[in-house]
Amino acid sequence: MKVIEYLEKAKRTLISFEIIPPLRGGDINQLFSVIDELIKLKPPFIDVTSHAAEVYYEETPTGIRKKIKRKRPGTIGICAAIKNKYNIDTVPHLLCRGFTKEETEDALIELNYLGIENVLALRGDDTSYKKPIPLGKTCNEYAVELVQQIINMNNGKYLEEDLLDAKPTDFCVGVAGYPEKHFESPNLKTDLFYLNEKIKAGAEYIVTQMFFKNEHYFNFVKKCREFGIKVPIIPGLKLITSKSQLKTIPKEFHIEIPDELTEEILASKKENVIDIGVEWAYKQCEELLNNNVPAIHFYILQNVEPLRRLIKKLNYNI
Ligand code: FAD
Repeated sequence: MKVIEYLEKAKRTLISFEIIPPLRGGDINQLFSVIDELIKLKPPFIDVTSHAAEVYYEETPTGIRKKIKRKRPGTIGICAAIKNKYNIDTVPHLLCRGFTKEETEDALIELNYLGIENVLALRGDDTSYKKPIPLGKTCNEYAVELVQQIINMNNGKYLEEDLLDAKPTDFCVGVAGYPEKHFESPNLKTDLFYLNEKIKAGAEYIVTQMFFKNEHYFNFVKKCREFGIKVPIIPGLKLITSKSQLKTIPKEFHIEIPDELTEEILASKKENVIDIGVEWAYKQCEELLNNNVPAIHFYILQNVEPLRRLIKKLNYNI
């Protein structure tokens, strides 16, 4: 079923998750052991992230060697495996960066054959590696172009224009939104303009970047509505579980960690950080649930236990 259908049919806030593929050479059974825990929380759908190739430099006896490696392949295979093993809908993330339009079309054809009906269309982060584009091929630069490509296929329009009897696909497309604005955007208004372009191109819902102050989400939703963006806006949340995240989260995701939370974590013993993270997320969830948000989307790492504690504390009967 499509994400938009789940959202439309839901009588109350849904809980969904996002997982990352294992490192190249990793064991899918480890991922299954995480999903075994997650399904107890009855998610209507699970997102699986996608990762483009990156550049690495390696010291060798003959000097520094540049290596190009796609660390976490397997998004489509994992989505199919989850659907097959657990009969849960999946949302593979698709990226512009690192993929030609032709590769994207092939990926969409595979997803269509697998009966996967949802995709989250993203530009992807700058991986410091710009894949050379083979002669005659093209790439989507911004997420809006990727949305357009998917919607074109939904209308039976493939890249090869004279395909005979091209069957339309039927994907539900989601896109990313940034309550604290995307880091490259000069201001929130400009970012909202481009977000609106993605919706006008046919995206049906938005999932937000994580935030630790609900005020950012509520303000973002208000501004989106003022802009004329009417689609559901799903808040993305993350549980802080270590002191080091006070540095890595702002660096990687360009978001604020509030004073109160920072001070509490800095003053605590490292074994107590998970308690603080769970308590903080609990307060965020309570307020979001009271405001009837369409779903709460959790960014998951490998450890599901803090999330289980949070859901139990919320007493959210699943
Ligand atoms: P876009 O919508 O293309 O926007 C990127 C920037 O360009 C913004 O500043 C926007 O304002 C601006 N912009 C947009 N269109 C135009 C235009 N036509 N002209 C000029 N400027 C424009 N990354 C991954 O690599 N893999 C993942 O699986 C992944 N999952 C994610 C899931 C969620 C819910 C979120 C919020 C992010 C995720 N990301 C992922 C990160 C994402 O790829 C990065 O944040 C990326 O930098 C921007 O992606 P986007 O789709 O929002 O880009």
